[in-house]
Amino acid sequence: MRWTQTYIPTLRESQSEAELISHQLLLRGGFIRKLASGIYLYLPLMQRVITKFADIVRDEMNKAGALEITMSVLCPAEIWQQTGRYETVGKEQMRMKDRHQHEMLLCGTHEETVTSLVAGEVKSYKQLPLNLYQIQVKFRDEIRPRFGLMRGREFIMKDAYSFDATEESFDQSYQKMVDAYFAIFRRAGIEAVKVESDTGAMGGKAAHEFMLLVDTNAGEETIMFCDKCEYAANVEKAEFRSAEETDKDESKPMEPVETPGAATIEEVTAFLKVKPSQLVKTLIYMADDKPVAALVRGDRELNLVKLKNATGAIDLEMANDEQVQKYTGAPVGFAGPVGLKDVAIYVDPMVTKLSNFIVGANENEKHILNVNIDRDFTATEVVDLSEAAPGDGCPRCEGTLEAKSGIEVGNTFMLGTKYSESLGARFLDADGKEHPILMGSYGIGVTRTPQAVLEKYHDANGIVWPKSIAPYLVEIVPVSMDNESHTQTAEKLYEQLEAEGIDVLLDDRPERPGVKFKDADLIGIPVRITIGDKALKQGAVEMKARSDEKAELVPVEDVMKAVREVLDRLN
Ligand code: ATP
Ligand code: MG
Repeated sequence: MRWTQTYIPTLRESQSEAELISHQLLLRGGFIRKLASGIYLYLPLMQRVITKFADIVRDEMNKAGALEITMSVLCPAEIWQQTGRYETVGKEQMRMKDRHQHEMLLCGTHEETVTSLVAGEVKSYKQLPLNLYQIQVKFRDEIRPRFGLMRGREFIMKDAYSFDATEESFDQSYQKMVDAYFAIFRRAGIEAVKVESDTGAMGGKAAHEFMLLVDTNAGEETIMFCDKCEYAANVEKAEFRSAEETDKDESKPMEPVETPGAATIEEVTAFLKVKPSQLVKTLIYMADDKPVAALVRGDRELNLVKLKNATGAIDLEMANDEQVQKYTGAPVGFAGPVGLKDVAIYVDPMVTKLSNFIVGANENEKHILNVNIDRDFTATEVVDLSEAAPGDGCPRCEGTLEAKSGIEVGNTFMLGTKYSESLGARFLDADGKEHPILMGSYGIGVTRTPQAVLEKYHDANGIVWPKSIAPYLVEIVPVSMDNESHTQTAEKLYEQLEAEGIDVLLDDRPERPGVKFKDADLIGIPVRITIGDKALKQGAVEMKARSDEKAELVPVEDVMKAVREVLDRLN
Protein backbone atom coordinates (compact mmCIF):
# COMPACT_ATOMS: atom_id res chain seq x y z
CA MET A 1 0.00 0.00 0.00
CA ARG A 2 1.14 3.51 -0.79
CA TRP A 3 0.70 6.07 1.95
CA THR A 4 -0.79 8.57 -0.50
CA GLN A 5 -3.44 6.07 -1.48
CA THR A 6 -4.55 5.03 1.95
CA TYR A 7 -5.74 7.21 4.81
CA ILE A 8 -3.48 7.61 7.86
CA PRO A 9 -4.41 10.89 9.55
CA THR A 10 -1.63 11.11 12.16
CA LEU A 11 -1.81 13.88 14.73
CA ARG A 12 1.08 15.76 16.32
CA GLU A 13 -0.75 17.03 19.38
CA SER A 14 -1.57 15.04 22.43
CA GLN A 15 -5.33 14.33 22.51
CA SER A 16 -7.11 15.52 25.63
CA GLU A 17 -9.88 12.89 25.36
CA ALA A 18 -7.38 10.07 25.91
CA GLU A 19 -6.27 9.18 29.40
CA LEU A 20 -4.45 5.98 28.50
CA ILE A 21 -1.30 5.82 26.44
CA SER A 22 -2.80 3.07 24.25
CA HIS A 23 -5.86 5.23 23.49
CA GLN A 24 -3.63 8.26 22.86
CA LEU A 25 -1.49 6.30 20.39
CA LEU A 26 -4.47 4.95 18.46
CA LEU A 27 -5.85 8.46 18.04
CA ARG A 28 -2.53 10.08 17.20
CA GLY A 29 -1.49 7.25 14.89
CA GLY A 30 -4.66 7.74 12.84
CA PHE A 31 -6.08 4.33 13.76
CA ILE A 32 -9.42 5.39 15.25
CA ARG A 33 -11.76 8.35 15.55
CA LYS A 34 -14.54 8.94 18.04
CA LEU A 35 -18.10 9.42 16.83
CA ALA A 36 -19.79 9.67 20.22
CA SER A 37 -19.11 8.56 23.77
CA GLY A 38 -17.93 4.94 23.62
CA ILE A 39 -18.45 4.76 19.86
CA TYR A 40 -15.42 4.62 17.60
CA LEU A 41 -14.75 4.32 13.91
CA TYR A 42 -11.91 2.09 12.81
CA LEU A 43 -9.78 3.74 10.11
CA PRO A 44 -7.77 1.73 7.53
CA LEU A 45 -4.80 0.91 9.79
CA MET A 46 -7.05 -0.22 12.66
CA GLN A 47 -9.16 -2.25 10.32
CA ARG A 48 -6.05 -4.17 9.29
CA VAL A 49 -5.05 -4.74 12.93
CA ILE A 50 -8.53 -5.97 13.82
CA THR A 51 -8.63 -8.26 10.80
CA LYS A 52 -5.25 -9.75 11.71
CA PHE A 53 -6.26 -10.35 15.30
CA ALA A 54 -9.64 -11.73 14.27
CA ASP A 55 -7.85 -14.12 11.88
CA ILE A 56 -5.71 -15.44 14.74
CA VAL A 57 -8.84 -15.92 16.84
CA ARG A 58 -10.61 -17.63 13.97
CA ASP A 59 -7.68 -19.91 13.25
CA GLU A 60 -7.38 -21.13 16.86
CA MET A 61 -11.14 -21.50 17.28
CA ASN A 62 -11.35 -23.55 14.09
CA LYS A 63 -8.43 -25.70 15.23
CA ALA A 64 -10.31 -26.34 18.48
CA GLY A 65 -13.26 -27.63 16.46
CA ALA A 66 -15.55 -24.61 16.88
CA LEU A 67 -17.76 -23.64 13.93
CA GLU A 68 -18.10 -20.07 12.76
CA ILE A 69 -21.59 -18.70 12.23
CA THR A 70 -23.10 -15.21 12.24
CA MET A 71 -26.07 -14.41 14.41
CA SER A 72 -28.27 -11.35 14.18
CA VAL A 73 -27.48 -8.22 16.11
CA LEU A 74 -31.16 -7.59 16.70
CA CYS A 75 -33.03 -9.96 18.94
CA PRO A 76 -36.67 -10.23 20.02
CA ALA A 77 -37.07 -9.47 23.73
CA GLU A 78 -39.13 -12.64 24.32
CA ILE A 79 -36.19 -15.01 24.59
CA TRP A 80 -34.47 -12.66 27.04
CA GLN A 81 -37.66 -12.60 29.05
CA GLN A 82 -37.69 -16.40 29.06
CA THR A 83 -34.22 -16.61 30.64
CA GLY A 84 -34.98 -13.77 33.03
CA ARG A 85 -32.11 -11.67 31.76
CA TYR A 86 -34.43 -9.03 30.35
CA GLU A 87 -34.74 -7.92 33.98
CA THR A 88 -31.35 -8.89 35.39
CA VAL A 89 -29.00 -7.39 32.83
CA GLY A 90 -30.60 -4.00 33.30
CA LYS A 91 -29.72 -0.72 31.69
CA GLU A 92 -26.56 -1.92 29.95
CA GLN A 93 -28.80 -3.73 27.48
CA MET A 94 -29.81 -1.52 24.55
CA ARG A 95 -33.53 -1.87 23.97
CA MET A 96 -35.91 -0.58 21.34
CA LYS A 97 -39.26 -1.12 19.73
CA ASP A 98 -39.72 -1.91 16.08
CA ARG A 99 -42.48 -0.26 13.98
CA HIS A 100 -44.96 -2.93 15.10
CA GLN A 101 -44.22 -2.11 18.74
CA HIS A 102 -42.35 -5.39 19.27
CA GLU A 103 -39.73 -5.08 21.96
CA MET A 104 -36.27 -5.73 20.57
CA LEU A 105 -32.69 -5.77 21.85
CA LEU A 106 -29.38 -4.88 20.33
CA CYS A 107 -27.40 -7.87 21.59
CA GLY A 108 -24.63 -7.33 24.12
CA THR A 109 -24.11 -11.09 24.18
CA HIS A 110 -25.79 -14.02 22.43
CA GLU A 111 -26.56 -16.83 24.90
CA GLU A 112 -30.30 -16.52 24.28
CA THR A 113 -29.99 -16.35 20.50
CA VAL A 114 -27.66 -19.31 20.16
CA THR A 115 -29.59 -21.43 22.68
CA SER A 116 -32.85 -20.86 20.87
CA LEU A 117 -31.12 -21.84 17.62
CA VAL A 118 -29.79 -25.06 19.15
CA ALA A 119 -33.11 -25.79 20.86
CA GLY A 120 -34.69 -26.01 17.43
CA GLU A 121 -31.91 -28.11 15.86
CA VAL A 122 -30.37 -30.54 18.32
CA LYS A 123 -32.48 -33.51 19.34
CA SER A 124 -30.02 -36.32 20.06
CA TYR A 125 -26.75 -36.86 21.95
CA LYS A 126 -25.35 -37.88 18.56
CA GLN A 127 -25.40 -34.23 17.47
CA LEU A 128 -23.22 -33.24 20.44
CA PRO A 129 -20.70 -31.88 21.33
CA LEU A 130 -21.12 -28.71 19.35
CA ASN A 131 -19.32 -25.37 19.59
CA LEU A 132 -20.61 -22.36 17.64
CA TYR A 133 -18.86 -19.01 17.50
CA GLN A 134 -19.00 -15.66 15.79
CA ILE A 135 -16.95 -12.50 15.53
CA GLN A 136 -19.36 -9.64 15.63
CA VAL A 137 -20.37 -6.20 16.84
CA LYS A 138 -21.88 -5.99 20.32
CA PHE A 139 -23.81 -3.15 21.92
CA ARG A 140 -23.79 -2.32 25.60
CA ASP A 141 -24.84 0.96 27.10
CA GLU A 142 -21.87 0.93 29.49
CA ILE A 143 -22.34 3.22 32.46
CA ARG A 144 -18.80 4.55 32.04
CA PRO A 145 -17.56 4.13 28.49
CA ARG A 146 -13.90 5.09 28.60
CA PHE A 147 -10.37 4.39 27.52
CA GLY A 148 -11.19 4.26 23.80
CA LEU A 149 -11.66 0.71 22.54
CA MET A 150 -11.13 -0.76 26.02
CA ARG A 151 -14.64 0.00 27.21
CA GLY A 152 -16.84 1.05 24.34
CA ARG A 153 -20.59 1.00 23.92
CA GLU A 154 -20.16 -0.65 20.55
CA PHE A 155 -17.29 -3.10 20.19
CA ILE A 156 -16.32 -6.33 18.46
CA MET A 157 -16.34 -9.59 20.35
CA LYS A 158 -15.62 -13.18 19.56
CA ASP A 159 -18.25 -15.17 21.37
CA ALA A 160 -18.35 -18.96 21.38
CA TYR A 161 -20.91 -21.28 22.90
CA SER A 162 -20.34 -24.96 23.66
CA PHE A 163 -23.03 -27.63 23.93
CA ASP A 164 -22.37 -30.99 25.56
CA ALA A 165 -24.26 -34.07 26.67
CA THR A 166 -22.13 -35.21 29.60
CA GLU A 167 -20.12 -33.51 32.35
CA GLU A 168 -17.00 -35.26 31.11
CA SER A 169 -17.36 -33.97 27.60
CA PHE A 170 -18.31 -30.51 28.93
CA ASP A 171 -15.04 -30.37 30.91
CA GLN A 172 -13.15 -31.28 27.75
CA SER A 173 -14.93 -28.62 25.70
CA TYR A 174 -14.14 -26.02 28.37
CA GLN A 175 -10.49 -27.05 28.50
CA LYS A 176 -10.22 -26.84 24.70
CA MET A 177 -11.35 -23.22 24.83
CA VAL A 178 -8.93 -22.44 27.67
CA ASP A 179 -6.06 -23.91 25.61
CA ALA A 180 -7.19 -22.00 22.50
CA TYR A 181 -7.27 -18.77 24.53
CA PHE A 182 -3.70 -19.17 25.73
CA ALA A 183 -2.64 -19.83 22.13
CA ILE A 184 -4.54 -16.81 20.80
CA PHE A 185 -3.09 -14.35 23.29
CA ARG A 186 0.40 -15.76 22.88
CA ARG A 187 0.15 -15.27 19.12
CA ALA A 188 -1.00 -11.69 19.66
CA GLY A 189 2.19 -11.09 21.63
CA ILE A 190 0.86 -11.16 25.19
CA GLU A 191 1.02 -13.58 28.08
CA ALA A 192 -2.52 -13.73 29.40
CA VAL A 193 -3.05 -14.98 32.94
CA LYS A 194 -6.08 -17.12 33.78
CA VAL A 195 -7.83 -16.16 36.99
CA GLU A 196 -10.99 -17.28 38.76
CA SER A 197 -13.88 -14.89 38.41
CA ASP A 198 -17.40 -14.28 39.63
CA THR A 199 -20.13 -15.81 37.49
CA GLY A 200 -22.30 -12.68 37.86
CA ALA A 201 -25.42 -12.25 35.72
CA MET A 202 -24.26 -15.12 33.46
CA GLY A 203 -25.05 -17.76 36.08
CA GLY A 204 -23.23 -21.09 36.12
CA LYS A 205 -20.80 -23.00 38.29
CA ALA A 206 -17.38 -21.66 37.36
CA ALA A 207 -15.79 -18.89 35.38
CA HIS A 208 -12.35 -17.65 34.48
CA GLU A 209 -10.99 -14.41 33.12
CA PHE A 210 -7.92 -13.98 30.97
CA MET A 211 -5.98 -10.96 32.11
CA LEU A 212 -3.15 -8.94 30.69
CA LEU A 213 -1.21 -7.71 33.71
CA VAL A 214 -0.19 -4.06 33.48
CA ASP A 215 1.64 -1.53 35.63
CA THR A 216 -0.21 1.36 34.04
CA ASN A 217 -3.54 2.92 35.03
CA ALA A 218 -5.20 0.88 32.26
CA GLY A 219 -5.84 -2.01 34.62
CA GLU A 220 -9.52 -1.84 35.50
CA GLU A 221 -9.38 -5.12 37.37
CA THR A 222 -7.51 -6.08 40.52
CA ILE A 223 -6.26 -9.64 40.68
CA MET A 224 -5.15 -11.43 43.83
CA PHE A 225 -2.28 -13.89 43.42
CA CYS A 226 -0.84 -16.34 45.90
CA ASP A 227 2.93 -16.01 46.35
CA LYS A 228 3.28 -19.78 46.81
CA CYS A 229 0.67 -21.69 44.77
CA GLU A 230 -1.25 -21.22 41.51
CA TYR A 231 -4.24 -19.49 43.09
CA ALA A 232 -5.27 -16.36 41.19
CA ALA A 233 -8.68 -14.68 41.30
CA ASN A 234 -10.33 -11.43 40.42
CA VAL A 235 -10.68 -9.45 43.65
CA GLU A 236 -14.45 -9.52 43.06
CA LYS A 237 -14.31 -13.24 43.66
CA ALA A 238 -11.10 -13.77 45.69
CA GLU A 239 -11.45 -15.72 48.88
CA PHE A 240 -8.86 -15.64 51.63
CA ARG A 241 -7.88 -17.68 54.63
CA SER A 242 -9.39 -16.26 57.76
CA ALA A 243 -7.19 -15.74 60.78
CA GLU A 244 -6.85 -18.42 63.42
CA GLU A 245 -9.54 -18.63 66.08
CA THR A 246 -8.61 -16.50 69.05
CA ASP A 247 -10.18 -16.66 72.45
CA LYS A 248 -12.71 -13.95 72.94
CA ASP A 249 -12.42 -11.50 75.83
CA GLU A 250 -15.03 -11.72 78.51
CA SER A 251 -17.98 -9.69 77.36
CA LYS A 252 -18.53 -6.35 79.00
CA PRO A 253 -21.82 -4.48 79.28
CA MET A 254 -22.80 -2.31 76.30
CA GLU A 255 -22.00 1.37 76.73
CA PRO A 256 -23.43 4.14 74.55
CA VAL A 257 -21.00 7.03 73.99
CA GLU A 258 -21.30 10.46 72.43
CA THR A 259 -19.11 10.88 69.36
CA PRO A 260 -19.72 14.49 68.37
CA GLY A 261 -18.71 15.26 64.81
CA ALA A 262 -17.22 11.79 64.32
CA ALA A 263 -18.93 9.74 61.60
CA THR A 264 -16.22 8.16 59.45
CA ILE A 265 -13.97 5.30 60.62
CA GLU A 266 -11.00 7.71 60.80
CA GLU A 267 -12.92 10.25 62.85
CA VAL A 268 -14.43 7.70 65.26
CA THR A 269 -11.18 5.83 65.83
CA ALA A 270 -9.31 9.10 66.41
CA PHE A 271 -12.00 10.34 68.78
CA LEU A 272 -12.27 7.11 70.79
CA LYS A 273 -8.55 6.38 70.52
CA VAL A 274 -9.07 2.84 69.24
CA LYS A 275 -7.81 0.85 66.26
CA PRO A 276 -10.09 0.53 63.18
CA SER A 277 -10.12 -3.26 63.73
CA GLN A 278 -12.03 -2.73 67.00
CA LEU A 279 -14.85 -1.07 65.11
CA VAL A 280 -17.50 -2.73 62.98
CA LYS A 281 -18.84 -0.83 59.95
CA THR A 282 -22.55 -1.15 59.25
CA LEU A 283 -23.24 -0.33 55.62
CA ILE A 284 -26.81 0.06 54.48
CA TYR A 285 -27.64 -1.06 50.93
CA MET A 286 -30.85 -1.39 48.97
CA ALA A 287 -31.09 -4.91 47.58
CA ASP A 288 -33.89 -4.68 44.98
CA ASP A 289 -35.62 -2.03 47.10
CA LYS A 290 -35.22 -3.96 50.37
CA PRO A 291 -32.82 -2.52 52.92
CA VAL A 292 -29.92 -4.72 54.04
CA ALA A 293 -27.09 -4.07 56.47
CA ALA A 294 -23.60 -5.40 55.76
CA LEU A 295 -21.22 -5.64 58.70
CA VAL A 296 -17.48 -5.76 58.11
CA ARG A 297 -14.55 -5.06 60.39
CA GLY A 298 -13.57 -1.38 60.44
CA ASP A 299 -10.22 -1.96 58.73
CA ARG A 300 -11.70 -3.99 55.85
CA GLU A 301 -13.51 -3.07 52.65
CA LEU A 302 -16.90 -4.48 51.75
CA ASN A 303 -16.89 -6.55 48.55
CA LEU A 304 -20.05 -5.60 46.67
CA VAL A 305 -20.08 -8.71 44.49
CA LYS A 306 -20.01 -10.90 47.60
CA LEU A 307 -22.88 -8.90 49.13
CA LYS A 308 -24.84 -9.10 45.91
CA ASN A 309 -24.40 -12.87 45.78
CA ALA A 310 -25.28 -13.23 49.48
CA THR A 311 -28.50 -11.24 49.11
CA GLY A 312 -29.36 -12.67 45.70
CA ALA A 313 -30.23 -9.12 44.61
CA ILE A 314 -30.44 -8.15 40.96
CA ASP A 315 -29.83 -4.51 41.76
CA LEU A 316 -27.70 -3.52 44.69
CA GLU A 317 -27.24 0.12 45.48
CA MET A 318 -25.94 2.04 48.44
CA ALA A 319 -28.87 3.48 50.40
CA ASN A 320 -29.20 7.24 50.00
CA ASP A 321 -29.23 9.68 52.94
CA GLU A 322 -33.00 9.60 53.14
CA GLN A 323 -33.18 5.80 53.17
CA VAL A 324 -30.45 5.54 55.82
CA GLN A 325 -32.37 7.97 58.01
CA LYS A 326 -35.58 6.03 57.43
CA TYR A 327 -34.22 2.56 58.24
CA THR A 328 -31.68 3.39 60.99
CA GLY A 329 -33.27 6.47 62.49
CA ALA A 330 -29.96 8.31 62.20
CA PRO A 331 -28.02 10.19 59.56
CA VAL A 332 -25.28 8.43 57.55
CA GLY A 333 -22.30 7.41 59.70
CA PHE A 334 -24.14 6.17 62.78
CA ALA A 335 -25.79 2.96 61.59
CA GLY A 336 -25.37 -0.12 63.78
CA PRO A 337 -26.92 -3.59 64.17
CA VAL A 338 -28.24 -3.16 67.69
CA GLY A 339 -31.99 -2.58 67.65
CA LEU A 340 -32.11 -2.41 63.85
CA LYS A 341 -35.59 -3.39 62.67
CA ASP A 342 -36.86 -4.65 59.30
CA VAL A 343 -33.36 -4.76 57.90
CA ALA A 344 -31.62 -8.07 57.08
CA ILE A 345 -28.20 -8.17 58.74
CA TYR A 346 -25.34 -9.84 56.80
CA VAL A 347 -22.26 -10.32 58.93
CA ASP A 348 -18.74 -11.04 57.76
CA PRO A 349 -17.08 -13.98 59.62
CA MET A 350 -14.26 -11.67 60.80
CA VAL A 351 -16.83 -9.79 62.84
CA THR A 352 -17.94 -12.95 64.63
CA LYS A 353 -14.39 -13.36 65.94
CA LEU A 354 -14.44 -9.98 67.71
CA SER A 355 -15.62 -9.31 71.21
CA ASN A 356 -16.57 -6.00 72.79
CA PHE A 357 -16.53 -4.09 69.52
CA ILE A 358 -17.80 -0.64 68.62
CA VAL A 359 -20.76 0.06 66.34
CA GLY A 360 -22.97 3.01 65.42
CA ALA A 361 -25.90 3.53 67.81
CA ASN A 362 -28.55 4.41 65.19
CA GLU A 363 -28.64 7.83 66.83
CA ASN A 364 -27.01 11.02 65.62
CA GLU A 365 -23.43 11.40 66.91
CA LYS A 366 -23.57 8.27 69.05
CA HIS A 367 -21.77 4.94 69.04
CA ILE A 368 -22.00 1.89 71.34
CA LEU A 369 -18.97 0.27 72.98
CA ASN A 370 -18.67 -3.40 74.02
CA VAL A 371 -21.12 -4.87 71.54
CA ASN A 372 -21.17 -8.66 71.12
CA ILE A 373 -22.83 -10.64 68.37
CA ASP A 374 -25.65 -13.01 69.44
CA ARG A 375 -25.95 -11.30 72.81
CA ASP A 376 -26.77 -7.84 71.43
CA PHE A 377 -28.00 -8.57 67.93
CA THR A 378 -28.61 -11.54 65.65
CA ALA A 379 -27.16 -12.03 62.20
CA THR A 380 -29.58 -12.92 59.42
CA GLU A 381 -26.60 -14.66 57.83
CA VAL A 382 -22.87 -14.95 58.48
CA VAL A 383 -21.20 -14.84 55.09
CA ASP A 384 -17.86 -13.76 53.58
CA LEU A 385 -18.26 -10.08 52.66
CA SER A 386 -14.76 -8.63 52.98
CA GLU A 387 -12.62 -7.85 50.02
CA ALA A 388 -9.38 -9.83 49.97
CA ALA A 389 -6.43 -7.54 50.64
CA PRO A 390 -2.68 -7.90 50.04
CA GLY A 391 -1.17 -9.76 52.97
CA ASP A 392 -4.23 -11.97 53.52
CA GLY A 393 -3.65 -15.72 53.61
CA CYS A 394 -4.19 -17.77 50.43
CA PRO A 395 -7.41 -19.81 50.64
CA ARG A 396 -5.67 -22.86 49.11
CA CYS A 397 -2.28 -22.99 50.83
CA GLU A 398 -0.05 -21.40 53.45
CA GLY A 399 0.98 -18.61 51.06
CA THR A 400 0.12 -14.92 51.14
CA LEU A 401 -1.98 -12.94 48.63
CA GLU A 402 -0.57 -10.12 46.52
CA ALA A 403 -2.52 -7.68 44.33
CA LYS A 404 -1.81 -6.82 40.69
CA SER A 405 -3.77 -4.85 38.17
CA GLY A 406 -4.94 -6.21 34.84
CA ILE A 407 -7.03 -5.76 31.73
CA GLU A 408 -9.61 -8.47 31.00
CA VAL A 409 -9.08 -9.57 27.42
CA GLY A 410 -11.25 -12.68 27.49
CA ASN A 411 -13.32 -14.95 29.67
CA THR A 412 -14.79 -18.42 29.86
CA PHE A 413 -17.98 -19.39 31.68
CA MET A 414 -19.26 -22.81 32.64
CA LEU A 415 -22.91 -21.96 32.22
CA GLY A 416 -24.34 -25.41 32.91
CA THR A 417 -28.04 -25.74 32.09
CA LYS A 418 -29.37 -22.28 33.00
CA TYR A 419 -30.04 -21.26 29.39
CA SER A 420 -30.85 -24.68 27.96
CA GLU A 421 -33.48 -25.25 30.64
CA SER A 422 -35.23 -21.94 30.20
CA LEU A 423 -35.16 -22.10 26.41
CA GLY A 424 -35.86 -25.83 26.06
CA ALA A 425 -32.55 -26.92 24.51
CA ARG A 426 -32.78 -30.62 25.27
CA PHE A 427 -31.43 -33.88 23.85
CA LEU A 428 -32.24 -37.55 24.12
CA ASP A 429 -29.47 -39.77 25.51
CA ALA A 430 -28.67 -43.31 24.31
CA ASP A 431 -31.47 -44.67 26.51
CA GLY A 432 -33.99 -42.26 25.09
CA LYS A 433 -34.06 -40.08 28.23
CA GLU A 434 -34.35 -36.33 27.84
CA HIS A 435 -31.82 -33.88 29.42
CA PRO A 436 -31.02 -30.19 29.13
CA ILE A 437 -27.78 -29.54 27.22
CA LEU A 438 -24.69 -28.47 29.22
CA MET A 439 -23.46 -25.10 27.99
CA GLY A 440 -20.36 -22.96 28.18
CA SER A 441 -19.80 -19.45 26.85
CA TYR A 442 -16.50 -17.90 25.87
CA GLY A 443 -15.72 -14.27 24.99
CA ILE A 444 -12.71 -12.39 23.65
CA GLY A 445 -12.54 -8.65 23.14
CA VAL A 446 -11.53 -8.35 19.50
CA THR A 447 -11.24 -4.56 19.64
CA ARG A 448 -10.20 -4.33 23.30
CA THR A 449 -7.29 -6.77 22.98
CA PRO A 450 -5.31 -4.95 20.25
CA GLN A 451 -5.54 -1.74 22.28
CA ALA A 452 -4.59 -3.59 25.46
CA VAL A 453 -1.54 -4.94 23.63
CA LEU A 454 -0.36 -1.35 23.19
CA GLU A 455 -0.19 -0.78 26.93
CA LYS A 456 2.84 -3.09 26.69
CA TYR A 457 4.02 -2.43 23.15
CA HIS A 458 5.03 1.21 22.93
CA ASP A 459 7.93 3.53 23.68
CA ALA A 460 8.39 7.28 23.99
CA ASN A 461 8.08 7.74 20.21
CA GLY A 462 4.98 5.67 19.57
CA ILE A 463 3.68 2.20 18.90
CA VAL A 464 5.84 -0.92 18.55
CA TRP A 465 3.39 -3.48 17.11
CA PRO A 466 4.04 -7.17 17.64
CA LYS A 467 4.40 -8.52 14.11
CA SER A 468 1.36 -10.82 14.28
CA ILE A 469 -1.14 -7.96 14.46
CA ALA A 470 0.85 -5.09 12.93
CA PRO A 471 -1.09 -3.38 10.12
CA TYR A 472 1.96 -3.78 7.85
CA LEU A 473 5.20 -5.63 8.45
CA VAL A 474 7.56 -3.34 6.56
CA GLU A 475 7.52 0.38 5.89
CA ILE A 476 9.68 1.83 3.14
CA VAL A 477 10.71 5.44 3.56
CA PRO A 478 12.41 7.14 0.60
CA VAL A 479 14.07 10.22 2.09
CA SER A 480 13.25 12.41 -0.91
CA MET A 481 10.47 11.92 -3.43
CA ASP A 482 12.32 14.32 -5.77
CA ASN A 483 15.36 12.08 -5.97
CA GLU A 484 15.00 9.49 -8.67
CA SER A 485 17.44 7.00 -7.22
CA HIS A 486 15.48 7.11 -3.94
CA THR A 487 12.14 6.60 -5.60
CA GLN A 488 13.35 3.96 -8.02
CA THR A 489 14.96 1.87 -5.30
CA ALA A 490 11.87 2.31 -3.17
CA GLU A 491 9.60 1.15 -5.97
CA LYS A 492 11.78 -1.83 -6.71
CA LEU A 493 11.83 -3.01 -3.08
CA TYR A 494 8.12 -2.29 -2.72
CA GLU A 495 7.35 -4.53 -5.70
CA GLN A 496 9.64 -7.28 -4.45
CA LEU A 497 8.08 -7.30 -0.99
CA GLU A 498 4.58 -7.28 -2.41
CA ALA A 499 5.50 -10.15 -4.71
CA GLU A 500 6.79 -12.09 -1.70
CA GLY A 501 3.46 -11.56 0.06
CA ILE A 502 4.92 -9.37 2.79
CA ASP A 503 2.57 -6.56 3.87
CA VAL A 504 4.39 -3.39 2.98
CA LEU A 505 3.64 0.30 3.27
CA LEU A 506 5.49 2.78 1.08
CA ASP A 507 5.65 6.31 2.44
CA ASP A 508 5.48 8.09 -0.90
CA ARG A 509 4.41 11.45 0.52
CA PRO A 510 6.40 14.49 -0.63
CA GLU A 511 7.12 15.30 3.03
CA ARG A 512 10.30 16.21 4.86
CA PRO A 513 12.20 13.13 6.10
CA GLY A 514 11.73 14.25 9.73
CA VAL A 515 7.95 14.12 9.34
CA LYS A 516 8.08 10.67 7.75
CA PHE A 517 10.38 9.27 10.45
CA LYS A 518 8.19 10.65 13.23
CA ASP A 519 5.09 9.13 11.66
CA ALA A 520 6.87 5.82 11.10
CA ASP A 521 7.78 5.66 14.78
CA LEU A 522 4.26 6.67 15.77
CA ILE A 523 2.40 4.02 13.75
CA GLY A 524 4.90 1.36 14.78
CA ILE A 525 5.43 -0.86 11.71
CA PRO A 526 7.92 -3.57 12.84
CA VAL A 527 10.59 -3.03 10.13
CA ARG A 528 11.59 0.23 8.48
CA ILE A 529 13.69 0.50 5.35
CA THR A 530 15.10 3.98 4.77
CA ILE A 531 16.41 4.93 1.39
CA GLY A 532 18.81 7.88 1.37
CA ASP A 533 21.94 9.14 -0.37
CA LYS A 534 24.51 7.97 2.13
CA ALA A 535 23.53 4.32 2.03
CA LEU A 536 22.71 4.28 -1.65
CA LYS A 537 26.26 5.43 -2.46
CA GLN A 538 27.34 2.07 -1.03
CA GLY A 539 24.57 0.27 -2.92
CA ALA A 540 22.69 -0.23 0.33
CA VAL A 541 19.64 0.86 2.30
CA GLU A 542 19.17 1.34 6.03
CA MET A 543 17.10 -1.24 7.81
CA LYS A 544 15.84 -0.87 11.36
CA ALA A 545 13.47 -2.87 13.50
CA ARG A 546 11.08 -0.53 15.29
CA SER A 547 12.11 -2.12 18.58
CA ASP A 548 15.86 -1.79 17.91
CA GLU A 549 17.99 1.21 18.77
CA LYS A 550 20.20 1.06 15.72
CA ALA A 551 19.79 0.69 11.97
CA GLU A 552 22.01 -1.55 9.85
CA LEU A 553 23.15 -1.15 6.27
CA VAL A 554 21.86 -3.84 3.95
CA PRO A 555 22.97 -4.18 0.28
CA VAL A 556 19.94 -3.58 -1.93
CA GLU A 557 20.07 -7.09 -3.36
CA ASP A 558 20.02 -8.66 0.15
CA VAL A 559 16.98 -6.78 1.43
CA MET A 560 14.54 -9.64 1.03
CA LYS A 561 16.69 -12.04 3.01
CA ALA A 562 17.45 -9.45 5.67
CA VAL A 563 13.75 -8.60 6.08
CA ARG A 564 12.96 -12.26 6.65
CA GLU A 565 15.75 -12.57 9.20
CA VAL A 566 14.62 -9.55 11.18
CA LEU A 567 10.98 -10.64 11.10
CA ASP A 568 12.01 -14.08 12.33
CA ARG A 569 13.68 -12.73 15.41
CA LEU A 570 10.98 -10.17 16.25
CA ASN A 571 8.13 -10.83 18.63
P1 ATP B 1 -15.95 -6.34 31.78
O1 ATP B 1 -15.88 -7.01 33.13
O2 ATP B 1 -14.65 -5.75 31.34
O3 ATP B 1 -17.12 -5.43 31.64
P2 ATP B 1 -17.49 -8.50 30.79
O4 ATP B 1 -17.32 -9.50 31.87
O5 ATP B 1 -18.70 -7.67 30.74
O6 ATP B 1 -16.21 -7.54 30.75
P3 ATP B 1 -18.04 -10.30 28.60
O7 ATP B 1 -19.44 -9.92 28.60
O8 ATP B 1 -17.82 -11.68 29.00
O9 ATP B 1 -17.19 -9.24 29.42
O10 ATP B 1 -17.34 -10.04 27.22
C1 ATP B 1 -16.26 -10.82 26.71
C2 ATP B 1 -15.08 -9.94 26.37
O11 ATP B 1 -15.50 -8.81 25.60
C3 ATP B 1 -14.39 -9.32 27.57
O12 ATP B 1 -13.44 -10.21 28.11
C4 ATP B 1 -13.73 -8.10 26.97
O13 ATP B 1 -12.49 -8.44 26.39
C5 ATP B 1 -14.71 -7.68 25.89
N1 ATP B 1 -15.55 -6.57 26.33
C6 ATP B 1 -16.56 -6.60 27.23
N2 ATP B 1 -17.12 -5.40 27.37
C7 ATP B 1 -16.47 -4.57 26.52
C8 ATP B 1 -16.61 -3.19 26.19
N3 ATP B 1 -17.52 -2.44 26.75
N4 ATP B 1 -15.76 -2.66 25.26
C9 ATP B 1 -14.83 -3.44 24.65
N5 ATP B 1 -14.65 -4.74 24.93
C10 ATP B 1 -15.46 -5.31 25.84
MG1 MG C 1 -19.13 -5.76 31.45
